[in-house]
Amino acid sequence: MATVAGVAVEGGHWIGGERVSSPTTFDDVSPIDEKVIAEISRGGEREARAAVEAAGKAFPSWSRTSREERARLLHAIADGVEKRLDQLAIVETTDNGALLRSHLRGVMPRVAHNFRFFADWLLTLGHEDFETRGHRNHVSWDPAGVCALITPWNAPLMLATWKIAPALAAGNTVVLKPAEWTPLTASLLADITAQAGLPDGVFNVVQGYGAEAGAALVADPGVRRVSFTGSVPTARHISTAAAANLTPLSLELGGKSPLLVFADSDLDLAVDLAVEQYDNAGQVCLSAVRLLVEESVAEEFTARFVAKASALNQGDPRDLATDIGPQIHRRQFERIDGFVQRARAEGATALIGGGPNTDLGGLYYRPTLFTGVAAGSEIVNEEVFGPVLTLQTFRTEEQAVEMANSTRFGLAATLATGSEERAARVSERLVAGTVWVNCFFVRDLKAPFGGSRQSGVGREGGDWSFDFYCDLKNTVTAPWEK
Ligand code: NAD
Repeated sequence: MATVAGVAVEGGHWIGGERVSSPTTFDDVSPIDEKVIAEISRGGEREARAAVEAAGKAFPSWSRTSREERARLLHAIADGVEKRLDQLAIVETTDNGALLRSHLRGVMPRVAHNFRFFADWLLTLGHEDFETRGHRNHVSWDPAGVCALITPWNAPLMLATWKIAPALAAGNTVVLKPAEWTPLTASLLADITAQAGLPDGVFNVVQGYGAEAGAALVADPGVRRVSFTGSVPTARHISTAAAANLTPLSLELGGKSPLLVFADSDLDLAVDLAVEQYDNAGQVCLSAVRLLVEESVAEEFTARFVAKASALNQGDPRDLATDIGPQIHRRQFERIDGFVQRARAEGATALIGGGPNTDLGGLYYRPTLFTGVAAGSEIVNEEVFGPVLTLQTFRTEEQAVEMANSTRFGLAATLATGSEERAARVSERLVAGTVWVNCFFVRDLKAPFGGSRQSGVGREGGDWSFDFYCDLKNTVTAPWEK
C-alpha cells in the first residue's frame, strides 16, 4: 500500500475480488519529479492465468444477470468515480503528469460518463426479429466471455473505462492490464467497483510489464476478446499472439494526423486549433501534429502561431495555471529528443522549442515547431508522441488532400475552412477515422471511433462497442404447430 498525494493506493493485483501480491515488484515513478511513488506487483503468467480463471468463473452468473441490474451496477460505479473524483484526478496527475486542471474538469467526469453512457445504451440495445418463409429470425447480442483489456499511459483511466464499461455492460467479465508507467488509477477503480457491489471476479486488474503480464494475458486460451490501445509495434506482437487462439481483436493505435488550414479559414480559430495540439504535452493519439497551411496565409499563420504558442505556461501539472506539463518518462523524453535532433540534422528549422526546457529541468520538453521539413522525412511520417509539430505549405486543395493522406496512419484529420462546400469535398477524401471541421476533440460516445490504415482495426462507441464485445446470434425458429 502506498500513499500518493495523500490517497492510499494498493500496489497489488485485483483478482477474484481480492488483493494479490507478486513476489517481485517494480517502481512506479512520477514524471513530475522522477521520484518513486509506489511499489507495484510485477505480474506474469501466473497472475494472468489466475485472473482469467477468476473472470471465467464469474462469467456464467454475470452474463445471465439482467440488463437492468448490470446497468444499475455500472451507474453505481459511476457514482463511486464521482465521489472520489478529486482523488482520482490528483493521483492520475501524479502518476502520468497530465494537467490536474484537465483531469478535474474533463477527464474524470468523462470516466464516470463512460459507465453511465454504456449502462443506458445497453438498455436501448434492440433485439431484431424478422420472418423468413414463416420462420422467425431472432438476432441477439450474447456476451462473448472473458475480455483482456490492455491500455496505455497517456490517458490511463479514461481509455481503460472506455473499454471496461461496454465490456461489462455487454455481460462480459474483464481482466485489465494497465500500462506499467501508470498503474495507480486502475487500482483505485478496483476499490470503487468493489464498493459499488460488483460481484467478485467480474472486474480484475493484473499489473506488470507488457512483455510479461500483457503477453501472458493475450496468449491465454480462456480470453475471448482482446481490446488494445497503444502503439503499432506492440499491436503486431498482440496480433500474432491472438492469432494462435483466433481471439477477436480491437486495436486503437497511433497516428500522424494533419491539420489543414485553408486561406479562407478564420485564422484565429486555425491558430487556436493548432496550438491546442500541444495538449497533454503532445501525448495524444489524435493530435494533429502535421500543420498543412495554404501558402498564401502561411506567413501570417506562422507569426500568430509562434506568438500564441510561446505564451504557453509550462510547469508543474498540479498547478491549475499550467498549460503544458512534463513528458511521461525519461525513456519517452529521450525518444522525443532523438526525433528532434535527427530532424535538425536533416535540415529542419525549429521556429520554437527544439529541446528540453532547461529552466525547469526533469522531463519538461519545450513545445516545438519545425519548418523546412522534407515530405519523406522521419519527422513528417513517424509518430513522435511529444510536443513536436511540423509545418508544411500547399498551393491547391488537391495537394492538401494528397499531403494529408500521405502517411501510413489514418486516425484523425482536422480542417479549418470558411467554405462549407470545400469542407464537404475535402472531408470526403480524407483517410481518417474521425474528421473535425473547424473544431477539435468534440467527441460523442455514440459515434464510431477508431483508425484507418495502421491506426487501428475496428471501431468503438455506441453499437460498435457492443458489436465487438458481443457474439451476435441469429436464432431461426420454424412455425409452431398450434
Ligand atoms: P505501448 O504499445 O508501448 O503499450 C500499451 C500497452 O501495451 C501497455 O499496457 C503495455 O504494457 C502493453 N504491452 C506492451 N507490450 C506488450 C505485449 N507484447 N503484449 C501485450 N501487451 C503489451 O503504447 P504506449 O507507449 O503505452 O502508448 C502510446 C501509444 O498509444 C501511441 O502510439 C499512441 O498513439 C497510442 N494511443 C492510441 C489511442 C487510440 O485511441 N487510437 C489512444 C491513446 C494512445
